[in-house]
Parts: sequence; structure tokens; C-alpha cells
Amino acid sequence: MIPYGRQEITQKDVEAVIEVLQSDFLTQGPQVPAFEKTLANYCNAQHAVAVNSATSALHIACLAMDLGKGDWLWTTPVTFVATSNCALYCGARVDFVDIDPFTYNLCPAALERKLIDAEAAGKLPKIVVPVHLCGEPCDMAAIHALSKRFGFKIIEDASHAVGGSYKGGKIGACQYSDITVFSFHPVKIITTAEGGLALTNDANLANRMQLFRSHGITRDTSQMTHEADGGWYYQQIELGYNYRMTELQAALGNSQFDRLDQYVAKRHQISDRYDTLLDGLPLSTPVRGADGYSGLHLYVIRLHPDLAATTHAQVFDHLRAAGIGVNLHYIPIHTQPYYQNMGFKVGDFPEAEKYYAEAISLPMYPNLSHAQQDEVVNALTQALTE
Ligand SMILES: *Cc1c(COP(=O)(O)O)cnc(C)c1O
Repeated sequence: MIPYGRQEITQKDVEAVIEVLQSDFLTQGPQVPAFEKTLANYCNAQHAVAVNSATSALHIACLAMDLGKGDWLWTTPVTFVATSNCALYCGARVDFVDIDPFTYNLCPAALERKLIDAEAAGKLPKIVVPVHLCGEPCDMAAIHALSKRFGFKIIEDASHAVGGSYKGGKIGACQYSDITVFSFHPVKIITTAEGGLALTNDANLANRMQLFRSHGITRDTSQMTHEADGGWYYQQIELGYNYRMTELQAALGNSQFDRLDQYVAKRHQISDRYDTLLDGLPLSTPVRGADGYSGLHLYVIRLHPDLAATTHAQVFDHLRAAGIGVNLHYIPIHTQPYYQNMGFKVGDFPEAEKYYAEAISLPMYPNLSHAQQDEVVNALTQALTE
């Protein structure tokens, strides 16, 4: 089976992890701060907070912004469930903004319309979470302008986009957002097995995320309610979690980071080659905005709508049967039973649903060979011409 995504682990990665295993610290040692520093420098962000997953990063980002009961978080329906679940963890409510039919990202025009209505109803969101789907940057300048006009905060879910850039700045620079979150799950661009990271230029948000990652405990006397009782003393000043990244994970991340740019460049080569090989088939290949450089976590095709209704599942099954591990990113969240129980209905976000009826993620990872890529294209051509 050719998977849709897969990590590359080199001998150097293995040695980096073994070195940590033989060192004094398996957790809370030097590797995590080094990983944070590396990514903050790379992205040109002031602060980085590493955690055990992007899901945790999204959660502490919401907590740092005081998201709670009575608040709303808005995001796109075409994302992984973690993007919206973080609001529910905080007791807040979730709503969605439909996607742009060409980029598949949260549509700024739809966002503006929804904000105008929400303002009239007194239900403006506290946080909006744009997701750079497949790595393709969202129209952050437009979303940022709306945040100033309507007073919401922005968390970029950049789980697909580490290594990408937008308007000359790296994704993660937080030029148009308050916090940016990365994922290092093995299918993503670089991996720490499980792991995530939140970047920000706001010292207060960084400090609060550090607290929430580790039980809400501080050893910084300036944050305590009274002077330390002694050298052993710490205070719990918030209800936090244990969301820490281990030294093993960070060592793997530090080693993988050296290949980040190379990986993204390779993904672009694979994507360009797909664009050429798929030309002429009844499908659309991904659009690339002029303002950005995609991280290209995923390569999503959309079958032409006139054949999608009958053939989408057939093409998918044909590819799987041919040993091509295609996938579908994502089932619109508002159609999930858990969200339907909250009142969302099929039909609420038509562009997201149309996308879902036509989209297929083809294999995309740096070690995908030309021969494997040809195999994918041949199987797809056969499926569409049968
Ligand atoms: C993978 C992913 C997440 C969750 O990442 P984890 O590190 O697995 O918790 C969140 N949002 C998006 C868009 C993702 O692709």
C-alpha cells in the first residue's frame, strides 16, 4: 500500500533519540527549549511553547485567551475535529464559516457576512481559527482586517503549513494572528511522533500557555501571591494540564527540523509533477495563491461535479483496491454526529459539503518515488475511464 502520508526517519534521527535515552533527562531537559528556540527563530516569532500535540496546543491557546462559557469560537467546517473541539473543552460554543470553493479555506467574504449578522445579534466570536488546509495559506490579511473591525482574536491552525510562508513572512510569524499552532504527527511535514507547538509574539499569551501546559504551576516569584516559602516553593495559580513534550520527542523534532525546507521543496516537486500528469482528467488540481508558499501537507484533487455524485466513492474504492492509500480530508465537522447533536444540520455549509462530495487526497510525502507517483496516476486514470 502506498500511504497518503508518511514520515522519513534517518539514522541521524535515531541517534538523536538514543542520545537522549542515555542522558539525564527524558523530560524537562534541554531538548524542548532548544526545539522551541529553533522554531521561533525560523518563523521569526517571539515565543514558542512546545506541547504533546497540536490538539493540546489549540486547547492552551484558547485557555490563554480566556475562552469560556458564553463565548464563541468560529472555524471552518473542513478541518480535523481537534480545531473546533478545543472550544468545547473550554465550555465555549462553536460555529462554522463556509469555505471558499477554490482554495477550500475559510472564506473571508462569508466570514464578513456572518460577523455582520452576529454583531446585530450580539453574538460575535471571541476567537476565529483559520486553517491553512493542505498547507495553502488562508487570506490572513483579510481575516486580520476583520478581527480589528469586529474585535476577535485569531489562532492559525497551521498543522499543515510548517515551512510555508505568506506575504514574505513564514507561517508562524503571527503577523496576522495572535497565536499559530503546528502539529508534528507523523503524517505531517516534520514529526516528533506526537507533538505540537504554539507560537506568539505576545509575552502574556506565551506565559499563560506555559502555565496551562504544566498544571498551572509557576516557580516565578513575580507571579506568586506572596513571597516563596523557600527554595522548594511553587504555586498553582491556574487549573492547567500535563501537556508537556518529552525530550525524546523534541530531540526527534530538532533532528527532523534540519530537513524541513528540503521536505517542503520536495513536496512542491511532487505536486508540480501531479499537476502535469493529471492534466486532462475530469478533476481539478489544487490552486496556489500568489501570496503564499504552501507547506503542501496534502495534495487534494476534486472530481468534476457532474461525475462526482456517482463515481466519487467508486474512484476512492478503486484506488484503495489498487493499493493506493488515498484519504479524504475532511468530513465536514458539522455533519459529525456529536456536532449534529448540538444542532448543526446537513445543508448548513453547502460549499464544504460540495467539496466533501468530490475531494480525494492523493499520496504526498517526500519519499514518494516517481514510480509510485506514476502508479497513483495510472490507477486514478483507470478509475476515471472505466
Ligand atoms: C493533525 C491536525 C490537528 C491535530 O494535530 P495533533 O498533533 O494530532 O493533535 C489539528 N488540526 C489540523 C488541521 C490537523 O491536521
